[in-house]
Amino acid sequence: MDFTLRPYTEEQTSFRQEVRAWLEQTIPEEMKRPIDMRGITQEQYLWWREMRKKLAAKGWLYPTYSKQYGGGGLTGEHETILDEEFDRAGTVRGWNNGWAMSAILVWGTEEQRQRFLKPLVTGEKITWYKLTEPQSGADLAGIQTRAERDGDDWLITGQNVFISGENAPGFPDLLFGPAITDPNAPRHRNMGVFMIPVPSKGLEIRQMNLLGGNEQHFIFLDHVRVPGDHLIGGDHQGWQVAMSAAEQEHGGRGQAFPRDPVLDNLVSYARNTKRNGSTLGKDPMVQQTTMQAYLEAHVGGLLARRTFWMYNNRMEVNHEGAMANVHGREHTLRNAIRVRDVMGMYASLGTRDPLAPHSGAQDVSQRGLAGQHHAGGSTNIMKVILARRIGISRTKERPAVTPSSAGLGG
Ligand SMILES: Cc1cc2nc3c(=O)[nH]c(=O)nc-3n(C[C@H](O)[C@H](O)[C@H](O)COP(=O)(O)OP(=O)(O)OC[C@H]3O[C@@H](n4cnc5c(N)ncnc54)[C@H](O)[C@@H]3O)c2cc1C
Repeated sequence: MDFTLRPYTEEQTSFRQEVRAWLEQTIPEEMKRPIDMRGITQEQYLWWREMRKKLAAKGWLYPTYSKQYGGGGLTGEHETILDEEFDRAGTVRGWNNGWAMSAILVWGTEEQRQRFLKPLVTGEKITWYKLTEPQSGADLAGIQTRAERDGDDWLITGQNVFISGENAPGFPDLLFGPAITDPNAPRHRNMGVFMIPVPSKGLEIRQMNLLGGNEQHFIFLDHVRVPGDHLIGGDHQGWQVAMSAAEQEHGGRGQAFPRDPVLDNLVSYARNTKRNGSTLGKDPMVQQTTMQAYLEAHVGGLLARRTFWMYNNRMEVNHEGAMANVHGREHTLRNAIRVRDVMGMYASLGTRDPLAPHSGAQDVSQRGLAGQHHAGGSTNIMKVILARRIGISRTKERPAVTPSSAGLGG
């Protein structure tokens, strides 16, 4: 991908046509992504679980992962085209934790990549990302989950909160998460990262009831037995492994297609809603509010796209991801307020209300944004990271190793 604007090549254009035609033929109307993913039916879920395997077989599920690990071996431009076409076709995305996958790619042995990573890339399995504990969120080094040796195995005991994942039967297959392996070692050198099979004896997953929905979970582990070869990296290297995942989580891979449906809906609402014989967008206040939202979203999109371009070109991504992350967390909240200013109470009507603009998409997104300042380590922490990366903090911080900086694709 080149960040300078150039028309798509012939090969890219025909790739887009191939993807579009295939998706149009393959996804029936009733299987398209619902506005609220919590409304996904059992039938849709099972259909998409199979569909993910088909997408993977074409190399489209994780296009930039190498073929060796079940990916497409494709470029960042292909990923952008795929994301655009997936969005257009109503494709259900997500489910797997890509940040955990990056860390396995960087730190796993070849045997572990084949065993843990490949089934994730090919859509056979799903992993969740299990870091946060009741007393340690922003301060990941404060985790208390313990891993004790028992012969060749480890016995893991602890608990987690806020762990994201779909509430679907059979989800997840694996948990990726750190545990203290050596309580006497100094902070940051006392933990390992494990792939924990689900189900396991002593492991319990429970839904959390949050405003945004029920996609977060409590996890309880009571002497859960994990084989020694499920440790990714060394038993004192967990901090580095977790940081490779967090680097991606904090924006270090950027985004191939940073579409902003909230903004698109706001602009269309201002353009098309009639009030007092005119469209809402003719009102100077609405115009100004909508334009401000547009500008902020556009800047956010450019920042995320630039990081993606740098990542794919194996350039050193330093502060760029953190900058896009801070801007993204803050401008989407400002835009949520602007949406309410323009739509008024209509912004709060849910998916079942016939008067809800855009079938209730605003309500779904506004409730999701309630956790915005906390998910992924909090906005304040992102500001700390940004300050360290641009050199205005007491301490400096270098980016963690990613598949890009390790030359592994992904
Ligand atoms: C929707 C959602 C999804 C999530 N999904 C996952 C998931 O899949 N996996 C997972 O492991 N976790 C997940 N989390 C948890 C998330 O990572 C934590 O909420 C986050 O790390 C913050 O931790 P905390 O909530 O315990 O806040 P705390 O760590 O208690 O922080 C409270 C406040 O203090 C501030 N603060 C703390 N320390 C500092 C400091 N040193 N400097 C400046 N300010 C500081 C924080 O910024 C925050 O504002 C999710 C959370 C949400 C809301």
